[in-house]
Amino acid sequence: MSEQNQKPLVNPVTKYPQPPFEKQPQQAPGLSSQMDPIPDHGEKSYKGNGRLTGRKALITGGDSGIGRAAAIAYAREGADVAINYLPEEQSDADEVIALIEAAGRRGYAIPGDITTEAFCQTLVNEAAEKLGGIDILVNNAGRQQAVDSILDISAAGFDATIKTNIYAPFWITKAALPFLPEGAAIIATTSVQAYDPSENLFDYAQTKAANVAYVKSLAKQLGPKGIRVNGVAPGPVWTPLQISGGQPQDSIVKFGEATPLGRPGQPAELASIFVQLADNEASFATGQIYGSAGGNGHP
Ligand code: NAD
Ligand code: MG
Repeated sequence: MSEQNQKPLVNPVTKYPQPPFEKQPQQAPGLSSQMDPIPDHGEKSYKGNGRLTGRKALITGGDSGIGRAAAIAYAREGADVAINYLPEEQSDADEVIALIEAAGRRGYAIPGDITTEAFCQTLVNEAAEKLGGIDILVNNAGRQQAVDSILDISAAGFDATIKTNIYAPFWITKAALPFLPEGAAIIATTSVQAYDPSENLFDYAQTKAANVAYVKSLAKQLGPKGIRVNGVAPGPVWTPLQISGGQPQDSIVKFGEATPLGRPGQPAELASIFVQLADNEASFATGQIYGSAGGNGHP
């Protein structure tokens, strides 16, 4: 094969930045644009192939990190995309909407706090109205705050993690179900924390285990209706979640070092999994958790 016909091989170890990283505390939820290095969400690299032409996707936490990578990929695969995020993340969200529109698709920004059922219902209704329906639902938003001792986890902090990571997907899914046609796909972002929890992520890890059960149970319930439900379990990925309290700053310096690839993942490296799980081509995949963790952890 001539060199022109060959996609160059890439070494995954050296493909992306490796630790050490600078300490860089931000207030949660944090901004992608303020990170050093700025995460790669596939802005310059993701090439679509028409895999999701005409699809209608709602992605929570679509402003930054893994959700932004999914939003860019979905748009380049031909989907219209609505994203939800918190109002203080508007500048990150503006970048994503511009990228969706640059891909020739329609992008809708629906900011708001998903820790109340009322807003979750508003979000879904508004997304369905703007998109003309919903056939891909990605429950990806998440809250992660590292706390060394259970004695220092407040009831309010515990509640915020549970509301964001467990209640919101419940409320959003309940509101979305009447809109989802046969062939629709639901995707949850869980974590390696569901299987091998860190000592300082006591509340968060429990919610990510709950997200696995959400996938496994709902897949059984909705399989006969022709709706697939799957999850993605990332390992350490370079996103605002981590530098805004998801890890102690000392751990940010060596973030991803313990993986066999010796670095954190970049959001762009997970985008194709979200595409695969939404695509009709994956029609026999439901109730599955797809991992992407650089060599450690489960599944
Ligand atoms: P991120 O900070 O880019 O995304 C999280 C998003 O959640 C934020 O952008 C924010 O818009 C949203 N969010 C948080 N609280 C909210 C609220 N109350 N209302 C509305 N939106 C809210 O970080 P990320 O790492 O891409 O996180 C996406 C998902 O990936 C999360 O579910 C997280 O648990 C999961 N995850 C991340 C990692 C990692 O290492 N980064 C590893 C495993 C799993
Ligand atoms: Mg964000």
